[in-house]
Amino acid sequence: MTPYIDGHCHLNSPELREDVQLHVDKAVEAGVGRMLVVGSDEESSWEAVDMASRFSPQGVRASVGIHPHEAGRYPDGIPSDLLAMADRKEVFAVGEIGLDYHYDHSPRSVQREVMAAQIGWAKVKNLPVVFHVREAFADFFSLINDNPLGDAGGVVHCFSGSWSEAKMCLDLGLYLGFGGMITFKSAQEVRECLSSSPMDRIILETDSPWLAPVPYRGKTNTPSMMPLIYRAASDITGRTLSSVAQSVWQNGKDLYRWGEQDV
Ligand SMILES: [Zn+2]
Ligand SMILES: [Zn+2]
Repeated sequence: MTPYIDGHCHLNSPELREDVQLHVDKAVEAGVGRMLVVGSDEESSWEAVDMASRFSPQGVRASVGIHPHEAGRYPDGIPSDLLAMADRKEVFAVGEIGLDYHYDHSPRSVQREVMAAQIGWAKVKNLPVVFHVREAFADFFSLINDNPLGDAGGVVHCFSGSWSEAKMCLDLGLYLGFGGMITFKSAQEVRECLSSSPMDRIILETDSPWLAPVPYRGKTNTPSMMPLIYRAASDITGRTLSSVAQSVWQNGKDLYRWGEQDV
């Protein structure tokens, strides 16, 4: 059977970092062959790199960047230490970056500036971008229009928009990331976006420790829950589990370019 991927997780979060070895082992046992640990600020990006270095044989890889929630802490731009981190061999993406107008933890103008600066950074480093977009698609699209992505493209993780927004992302060449939300009763629109998207543009993820899939909703999510998300995606798309696994494995390789070794 093709290995699963967890295209977006936070093993570096306070909820998971203490038992990272256990979580990685359980994920491998569950059939997960790649886990992308995503940074949210300078510290968590370092930790993502450190985990990818320690657990490289188990398939852990890193993404580094500043989350829109944290953008307010970087009004002067991206620190040079973080910029240089993208050159490390453990790093396969810039992110998560983007806009979150639901929580508005950082001023919107700063969120936009920090996102634009990081698109430029990813372009120079030729890395794909992991986007977090919540209730902010209009500004997201206008920002991408003014700051086009490089050839490495990107993914809108934990996609939670409408089909017309999904379509615009796909037209921009972006992948769409889906996670535990596809198992939530209330998330019919997200399921429709998944079933309407071309199979070669879908990434599956936990976004752990958040958004645990049903029947664990509200509990701490971990990468070992990926099989539940794959099974839900198989039901929603009407494809066999193994064909979903094959497509998503290939998509992960195409997007993150993390190769075949160590599987
Ligand atoms: Zn996110
Ligand atoms: Zn995340």
